[in-house]
Amino acid sequence: MDKYQEQATKTEAEVFSEKSDKPNLAFVDGQNMHFGTTKCYKCAARLKISIKEIKLADCNCGNAWEVNLAKLRVYLKENYNVSEAYYLLGNLKDNNADMYNEIQKAGFILVFKEHHNKSKSKKKGNVDADLVFEVMKNLIDNQNFNQVVLISGDGDYKKLVSYLITKKRFKKILFPNKQFASSLYNELGGEAFDCLENLKTYIA
Ligand SMILES: [Zn+2]
Repeated sequence: MDKYQEQATKTEAEVFSEKSDKPNLAFVDGQNMHFGTTKCYKCAARLKISIKEIKLADCNCGNAWEVNLAKLRVYLKENYNVSEAYYLLGNLKDNNADMYNEIQKAGFILVFKEHHNKSKSKKKGNVDADLVFEVMKNLIDNQNFNQVVLISGDGDYKKLVSYLITKKRFKKILFPNKQFASSLYNELGGEAFDCLENLKTYIA
């Protein structure tokens, strides 16, 4: 893409956004956000425990932190005009009623992953298919939104992001942890992504 094309595409997308007075929707990959913020790989290695086992309090180097969900919801509203924010939960075993309440109180719409107990899939707990489904369902059934904000660093969404960009329905992808964001997103322009780490002042 040369400079002229880039400018033309950008203008077209901008015109689309300006034309639409409709709000945006956000989709949070809960598991990816949880791992990307609260789990410290450095301290897990230091303590010789697995990344699954390590808790927020085990990190003494300052890398791990916790997103304040209520603040995140306000940030999404104020900065990205997000009217509805969907929070997709991963592995049910790791979740509990307190957690559901906290997510809902913060103003997110909880979406549970469909579980197949007999499934031997190693990807159990990932929400990629469910999140993609929710986005596509809204694209088809919901006439009342403009663009999509995605919170995840998982490369599984690259196809979805590329599709949304071509349809002018993509607003932003927020990486929970830039270090672990999939390199598949490297080709995105700077205006297409941000990192939750950069927003700590507002959402921690
Ligand atoms: Zn640490």
